[in-house]
Amino acid sequence: MQKFADYPVIVNYNLHTRLRNERQETALHQAKQYTQERDLIMKVSRTSDASLKEFLWKQELEEFEKGVCALLQKIAGCPVGRKVLDLINKQTTVWIIPKSDDELKVCSCALTSPLNYDIPKDGSYAYGSGYGDTVILYNTRLDDDTLLHELVHAYRYSNKKYKESWLMVDNDGDKYRQNIEEFFAHEIENVYHSQMSEGLTKDYKKEEPADKDKIYDFLALNLPLINAMKTLLQHDTLASTAACCFAADYNPFRDCAEIEARYKQYKAMLGDDL
Ligand SMILES: [Zn+2]
Repeated sequence: MQKFADYPVIVNYNLHTRLRNERQETALHQAKQYTQERDLIMKVSRTSDASLKEFLWKQELEEFEKGVCALLQKIAGCPVGRKVLDLINKQTTVWIIPKSDDELKVCSCALTSPLNYDIPKDGSYAYGSGYGDTVILYNTRLDDDTLLHELVHAYRYSNKKYKESWLMVDNDGDKYRQNIEEFFAHEIENVYHSQMSEGLTKDYKKEEPADKDKIYDFLALNLPLINAMKTLLQHDTLASTAACCFAADYNPFRDCAEIEARYKQYKAMLGDDL
């Protein structure tokens, strides 16, 4: 178990502890003992495999914890990444635990959830509602930008800000719903890429490579995304800090007025077609 620098972030290799408890978690869930199930998940997330009697994974533990700390170091070395880490509520803890390679084959993604999640009323496994401490399920085969994205979710949860609300997106005629939290994390990821002189991607869902002008156009053609940025600028410290203080070529929070001016231009040209 390793704490990262002065940040409220703990990297904890607990893969075997987690897998060994999976069956019991499922049994508790099926027996509708949801509070006990959550207690067990919380305990497992905070227990290191090093505490197991027959501990055979010293090398894996070191590789994971060192690997994640190296990615965190890279993130902390970039101004936007450092700000995300700085803004995580210090009264809380972010637990970064391993996602196995087999689990990664099922979904090549990371996942952030509140540790003390709200128990769903419908008996489902939807553990995304809540606030405070968080758990990031992560595999070091994923890149630092994915970890940064998850840290944005963790920052929002830690400050009781994470709240799913859905936006309609029109991506070149392809229309779909998108969670504002994913939109926000994706945009911060793009600012991070810009500061690191790396390529940008247009949208969270499709992740098409695109340059700044093309993405600003995409935002300008989507009023719900502009309104989401305005809401974030009013209510979110990371967004308002981005607007005032992040030196990056790509920064839609700073350039929100410019993007809105583009929207008005397009609206005048296209009328109700927009
Ligand atoms: Zn996400």
